[in-house]
Amino acid sequence: MNSEIHNSASHRRRTKIIATLGPATDEPEVLEGMIRAGVDVFRLNVSHGDAVDHEKRAGLVRKAARKLRWQVALLVDLQGPKIRVEKFRNGSVVLTAGSHFTLDAGDPSVIGDQHRVGVSYQGLPNDVSTGDVLLLDDGLISMQVQSVHDGQVNCLVEQGGTLRNRKGLNLKGGGLSISGLAKHDLPNIELAAKVGADYVAVSFVSNAGDIVRARELLRKAGSEAALVAKIERMEGIDNLKEICEVTDAVMVARGDLGVEIGDEELPGLQKWIIRTALKRNRIVATATQMMQSMIENPIPTRAEVLDVANAVLDGTDAVMLSAETAVGKHPVKVIEAMNRICLGAERHFEREGDIKHLNVRFERIDQAIAMAAMYMATNVSVQAIVALTESGSTAQWLSRVQSAVPIYAFSRSAASRRRMAMFRDVFPVKQESASHDTDEVVAEVLRTLLAHGAVSENDRIIVTMGDLMRNPGGTNTFRFIKLDAEGQARYGL
Ligand code: PGA
Ligand code: MN
Repeated sequence: MNSEIHNSASHRRRTKIIATLGPATDEPEVLEGMIRAGVDVFRLNVSHGDAVDHEKRAGLVRKAARKLRWQVALLVDLQGPKIRVEKFRNGSVVLTAGSHFTLDAGDPSVIGDQHRVGVSYQGLPNDVSTGDVLLLDDGLISMQVQSVHDGQVNCLVEQGGTLRNRKGLNLKGGGLSISGLAKHDLPNIELAAKVGADYVAVSFVSNAGDIVRARELLRKAGSEAALVAKIERMEGIDNLKEICEVTDAVMVARGDLGVEIGDEELPGLQKWIIRTALKRNRIVATATQMMQSMIENPIPTRAEVLDVANAVLDGTDAVMLSAETAVGKHPVKVIEAMNRICLGAERHFEREGDIKHLNVRFERIDQAIAMAAMYMATNVSVQAIVALTESGSTAQWLSRVQSAVPIYAFSRSAASRRRMAMFRDVFPVKQESASHDTDEVVAEVLRTLLAHGAVSENDRIIVTMGDLMRNPGGTNTFRFIKLDAEGQARYGL
């Protein structure tokens, strides 16, 4: 028996759901409930919790996925160089507007008080100048730089509030020159390899080099994970095109991005990042505060409904939940709500009538086959595209077009199937047959699709494949199939 093709709850939902693991998801029943409700990717956020927690959670995910026969990917999210203030004598201070406050990068061991606090990043005084605005605790507190000397950044508090130990610090407008990987990420790269991560996310990516370096370290550690570049600072926006050249996926990391660039820029940037990624054959996820009120409440606000739906309409591959599932009160309900909203929005998604992707020079044969198959699929009515794919790359090309046709990606590789769990419009399926005979494999695939109700008698189907099957990236042909009234394959329209 093959694994399921369509989750019964999320039947044919095309947008994928990423849920963050945490204390609220630790019960196996909760985790299974979340998968049943439609989670495609689980995120381990290593900024919180310790290695023992992470390994345990990764194990629980794999176990639940096996039990429910569902393709679930695991994403390990590295903390990156998030800049933080150090500690206060009493854990926190209350800062009032108009008061003076010093960020001391010369001596991070200084014990914080009403007048100063240490900062973990020694380069801070070189990266800021008079007039810059610093935002603390996701923008809750702001202060303007008045002067910089001897490693000390002297500020005037503009917006006061309670500043607690180890809260994050961002420069409004971006520009803190610290790269995408930090020392504390190294053990977590080992951890990602150990737990068999399918994706690894790199926080605060500045340029392509950050991703190249992360990939080298991961490969050295024995991980084949795909890379996700989190776009959450100005430099990531400025260098998005070169980052897309080297990364597998990008994330619109709206939490930090909104603090660095200003929340008013987020809607425009979200659309631009998604468009840029899709055009360059990259996977793209949209993250942070999508269903924030459901940390407490059993239903989302209307604004949250619209936010999730808009990301779907923008063309995102996946929508992400953070605290909503990790520490929220309703980790299953929030997936149900997200599933429902995605399905609803997809009904109103305007498919690309003309394939803009055809106006480029194809650089790879699998890309050319995928686009040719899509062109045909959109011009003779086709009910399904099947990709026989070893690495998943043909399915990725097919899914960038976002046509109305579902893509069933059959692969013998479990790792490829899990990776494809994040691709919009793609339903990964296990290819059982090890035969090299394409006719035999196609017959098996059609039987599987018919048995699961993914296609019906009289449907038209396009199958992409390589004539030397099991050759990664080897797709070089496609076949058009018309099922007859008995579900037998015929050729011809
Ligand atoms: P984080 O990243 O949750 O790791 O901070 C996402 C974001 O900043 O939006
Ligand atoms: Mn972030």
